Amino acid sequence: MLKIINPATEEVIKEVDEDNVTSIQEKFKKAKLAQIEWSKRSIESRINILKTFRNLLVERRVALAETLTLEVGKPITQSNNELKGVLDRIDFLTSSAAKTVETEIVFNENGMLEQISHEPLGVIANISAWNYPYLVGANVFVPALITGNAVLYKPSEFSTLTGLEIARALHDAGVPKDVFMVLVGSGVVGSELLKLPIQGVFFTGSYATGKKINEAVASKLIKVQLELGGKDPTYVCDDVNVEIAATSTADGAFYNNGQSCCSVERIYVHEKIYDKFVDCFVKEVKGFVVGAPTDPKTYIGSLARPAQIEVLEKQVLDAKAKGAILHCGGKRREGRGAYFEPTVFSNVDHSMLVMRDESFGPIIGIQKVTSDDEAIKLMNDTQYGLTAGIYTLNETRAKSILEKINSGTVYWNCCDRVSPRLPWSGRGHSGIGLTLSTYGIKTFTQPKGWHLKSG
Ligand code: NDP
Repeated sequence: MLKIINPATEEVIKEVDEDNVTSIQEKFKKAKLAQIEWSKRSIESRINILKTFRNLLVERRVALAETLTLEVGKPITQSNNELKGVLDRIDFLTSSAAKTVETEIVFNENGMLEQISHEPLGVIANISAWNYPYLVGANVFVPALITGNAVLYKPSEFSTLTGLEIARALHDAGVPKDVFMVLVGSGVVGSELLKLPIQGVFFTGSYATGKKINEAVASKLIKVQLELGGKDPTYVCDDVNVEIAATSTADGAFYNNGQSCCSVERIYVHEKIYDKFVDCFVKEVKGFVVGAPTDPKTYIGSLARPAQIEVLEKQVLDAKAKGAILHCGGKRREGRGAYFEPTVFSNVDHSMLVMRDESFGPIIGIQKVTSDDEAIKLMNDTQYGLTAGIYTLNETRAKSILEKINSGTVYWNCCDRVSPRLPWSGRGHSGIGLTLSTYGIKTFTQPKGWHLKSG
């Protein structure tokens, strides 16, 4: 049995049956058969089912948000935001999919017709992270189902109940039970799933696990997409309204307790405004309400994974030892629950872990720079490449800097933002492949080239 523990209270919420090797194999066999029938349905009928799923999420929102908050420690207002945010994604995917994967005639002359059709991959593995189970899950299972695939969904063990609720809503909406199945359990269940003859792996999680997955399936020669971590930088230029930039970047760094793949993880500030920026930023962070995730006033709840506290403590010790200035936080909160106080360091540099390794928690380093060139060099000094942002009043300056940044997504005067209309992709250790946008629909299909000669 898998114990589901509330990270904010350390109480066991529920115990759930775990999958094992036999049940995983059974589920795969069923999915294989069911996928054939599912793919024969019209895309319109599959889209309608996903639209019903969307409406069920709206109907069930209050209960679903409560479950999410209980199992991952996400403040209730942010769980509600996630459930609202996923609607926008589903709307984009359901409205764009049919056109995106319709058969394209690319040549038609002298009795020779050439066309491209888009066929489903088959049975795919969707191994997901706990930090935004609705958002990162939907990026994969919604377009995968619409395009005719069956999905074996392995939620993180830290968001199991939400995974089961997602399945319930999909089944109630009309997705056949064997077309979407949840595999309950830890990473061991995920690794067993990879041993089966699946036809694609779509993974969201850490670089360490992504690398293992890539290696585990390499010899299968199947599609592998890895949406991994980041150490996302933001550069604040000297011409900005400092209060606005500080408020926006503080939210980008601390929303969801810093547990977002695109959280702001490093801040560079031009020397002309550095001291003022640090003052405004620290004031903003000291105003964040830390408390019970179920309280609507809470902005920072508990961490989802208690083990992350050790990572944060190591970064704090390392930064202090190397001369960083600690403005607030720096330690776990006394008492029950996986709480870590929001932590701000200035006087940091790239010798420190806090500026190099993904923190995935409520901690940030703010570094002084003397020029745009220095900022560009530091922003690119990372193995990751998920997002990067710049704050300036000058659009030309922003674009000229962002063009030089090696990152899948770039932001001007904003951060920590995902749009369903744009591709979501990482470079380097942030992953391979992409979701969202029309590219993120086609990616669940394989093209077939037709050469059709009449007569
Ligand atoms: P993990 O890599 O720890 O886990 C991700 C998933 O993989 C979980 O379901 C996990 O199961 C499973 N898993 C663990 N080991 C294996 C294995 N050997 N084989 C197959 N599956 C396995 O990541 P987290 O869940 O902690 O998520 C945090 C990370 O995800 C951060 O690095 C974050 O940046 C990244 N992320 C990236 C996003 C992006 O779009 N680029 C979006 C969201 C998060 P279990 O949890 O049960 O152990």
